[in-house]
Amino acid sequence: MQTTFTLAQLADPDTARSEKILRKCVHCGFCTATCPTFVTLGDERDSPRGRIYMIQAMLQGGEAPTATTVRHVDRCLSCLSCMTTCPSGVNYMHLVDHARTHIEKVYARPLGDRLMRRMLGVLMPNPGLFRWAMMLGRLAKPLAKLLPSTSRDAGGATFLRRAHAMLEAVPDRLAPPSPVDRPRTFEATTPRRKRVALMNGCGQQVLAPEVNEATIRLLTRHGVEVVIAEGAGCCGSAVLHIGDTGKALDLARANVAAWLREADGKGLDAIVVNASGCGTTLKDYGHMLADDPEWAERASRVAALAKDVSEVLRDLDIVPVGQPLRADGATPVLAYHAACSMQHGQKLVDPPRALLRGGGFTVRDVPEGHLCCGWAGTYQVLQPELSRRLRDRKVANIERLKPDLIAAGNFGCIGNIAAATGVPMAHTVELLDWVTGGPLPAALEGRGFDLVPLAARAVAAE
Ligand code: SF4
Ligand code: SF4
Repeated sequence: MQTTFTLAQLADPDTARSEKILRKCVHCGFCTATCPTFVTLGDERDSPRGRIYMIQAMLQGGEAPTATTVRHVDRCLSCLSCMTTCPSGVNYMHLVDHARTHIEKVYARPLGDRLMRRMLGVLMPNPGLFRWAMMLGRLAKPLAKLLPSTSRDAGGATFLRRAHAMLEAVPDRLAPPSPVDRPRTFEATTPRRKRVALMNGCGQQVLAPEVNEATIRLLTRHGVEVVIAEGAGCCGSAVLHIGDTGKALDLARANVAAWLREADGKGLDAIVVNASGCGTTLKDYGHMLADDPEWAERASRVAALAKDVSEVLRDLDIVPVGQPLRADGATPVLAYHAACSMQHGQKLVDPPRALLRGGGFTVRDVPEGHLCCGWAGTYQVLQPELSRRLRDRKVANIERLKPDLIAAGNFGCIGNIAAATGVPMAHTVELLDWVTGGPLPAALEGRGFDLVPLAARAVAAE
């Protein structure tokens, strides 16, 4: 793609990087076929190629973008399906992150939009505030039906429609804070092989505390000492995706400082992430802080240590103690939902599937598995109609497999999909924890699942 940035514009490192990305795009359009918003809306401006054109015009023009450009950039899920498809290696992730930062700097959003974004930016990274908001949301949930839920313009959401989506997303049940989410060290319960920090996240602590609990049981049972580092918290992705880059960088710096204190103290083999959306961001810390001389090298060290939990488990020889069975004695059929951040962001395709197969499940891939489920962090609230359409499409594809259960490696996808299907859904680590000696995941309780000790099965088979 030809560009005409001025030398003065290219003196800005973000613009210089974006220009390099733009020049790689050859307009082939392969990415349009795998983009969830283009597949749903059929508008070139809602495709990666269309957005790339608009982002170029916006950055090159040097003026505030039009409302149309902002609308189409806002509709991007940051699912990164386009990056998996692109044959030219266009780094759309860095381009759209820069575009969002630019929009937040120079574009005056309508008041309702600003308020909603400000509220999400304050609540999402802070588990304490987020918990309070969820408790208030439960009280206010009956009011959701009084608020409008749809608009004629898909993706054109107003404050009230977004408030409706937010209340709908509030879970009916909220678990109390988990004791595992305080800074401390969990010693390995078998001979120690590794020492890792667990990134315990922000929203996950409130919405799915069972995931960190299962991760710690599973890792310590397999010889891994796990530390929850003092001072570490939200990865920054929630605010990064709404263009608040300054806050995202502050959160990244706090995490880098906290984890390197551990790495330089007692040593760390990895920083384990069990929410793949956060993992994608952590692995990008080197890029995010590249222009900060004080933090760039340290951020790159943290990015190199960041691993999805499935990458760490792959090297640990997970040995099930039993065979999972459904009520009729057959092996459960498991639909594996590959979160976008797992398959497109981190390019982790085989490890979670192989681990689940090794755990005794019959693993099936979901048709149209490259398409996002519509959660995408704050997207569920900011673009409720598009989000809902993508979720319904995902659930229909999953149910086509007639699975006994669903697994994924990202708590947001789990909450989003589970709310729209009767098929029980759990995190990959909860299932692996169960088959290696942990409790049955709560979502599977009362569904007729059983774990038959492998020794008993062998005797029965003789
Ligand atoms: S990140 Fe996803 S939604 Fe955005 S342009 Fe790429 S494929 Fe489309
Ligand atoms: S596939 Fe890559 S090169 Fe082709 S239009 Fe999309 S981003 Fe550009």
